[in-house]
Amino acid sequence: MKSKKQKPDFLHIGNRLLLWYEQNSRDLPWRKTKDPYKIWICEVVLQQTQVKQGTAHYLRFVERFPDAKTLANADTDEVLLYWKGLGYYSRAMNLHKAAKQISEEFGGNFPDNFDDILKLKGVGKYTAAAVASICFGTPVPAVDGNFYRVLSRLFADDFDVSNTQAFAYFSKLAMRIMPADVAGDFNQAMMDLGSEICKPINPLCSECPLNKDCVAYLTGTTALFPVKTKKTKVNELAMQYYFVENAGRFLIRRRDTVSIWKNLYEFATEIPADWEKFVIKTKTIAHKLTHRNMLITISHTQISTSDFEDFAKENGFVISSVEESDHVSFPKPLENYIKMFNVKNPTL
Ligand code: SF4
Repeated sequence: MKSKKQKPDFLHIGNRLLLWYEQNSRDLPWRKTKDPYKIWICEVVLQQTQVKQGTAHYLRFVERFPDAKTLANADTDEVLLYWKGLGYYSRAMNLHKAAKQISEEFGGNFPDNFDDILKLKGVGKYTAAAVASICFGTPVPAVDGNFYRVLSRLFADDFDVSNTQAFAYFSKLAMRIMPADVAGDFNQAMMDLGSEICKPINPLCSECPLNKDCVAYLTGTTALFPVKTKKTKVNELAMQYYFVENAGRFLIRRRDTVSIWKNLYEFATEIPADWEKFVIKTKTIAHKLTHRNMLITISHTQISTSDFEDFAKENGFVISSVEESDHVSFPKPLENYIKMFNVKNPTL
């Protein structure tokens, strides 16, 4: 992204925000580094994960994979294992692919400008802007939902955040308050303000460093912003699994479809028709993803030893115990199901 030279006309707002950030910034492990690899990992971890939960995962991940080269050379299963608990595993798959890209296309060095960072697999404009501004001082705003919310309230601007032009529009708006020479701090300050103060519901306006200038606050209209007319389209999806079990061990197999959960492990999706009578218990789990509402039915099916082993062999399943299953990654609902599986009393 070529940053247009545009003079901020509300610079005092940005400066007040930076002052607040200086005094209130959260003490987070990735705030102590300018290593673009680590900032990138942290941004991806935090995309769909709360800071509290994401911190431990981030630390574990960068300890095992401290640089792009280590990550590129790692086995996919291990990368997925270190992502366990975070969900949305496509993020881990993309990190892995992008690390290989860094090795192959960028000579092992993390790209040092917005346009090249944007070429990495899975990296969008927000992440590229965050890394470029924090690590290389590039004057670009890292516009995300926090920016939409804060800016639309600050200027009482009713531009629809579901409009495809919203990113460009709010980027321009951000430039009006962003001191170009400290874009990295500014972006982090906006992230903190959006999550700690200017919350989606009940923003803490009396504590906000921008309240003297915030039009929505001054006119009592914070609840009207941001404006979003289109709802995210959500598809319904029903799935059936069979937890085929014998004496506490059960069948798992790597999922290789191109749709969701690629490369994760799962249970059997089909069993021979005459095994239906061995189903001892069925559980239905509702699971929400960003664009999907899933209803997952898991039928616990107890099978005698020889049938169990034959079925595993013929259909490419691995026979696993609860402990062994810990070494591979499952979609969250299946991971939770295994946690609840009571080996001593399987009917529970
Ligand atoms: S004054 Fe309130 S609505 Fe305005 S930016 Fe601050 S927290 Fe958000």
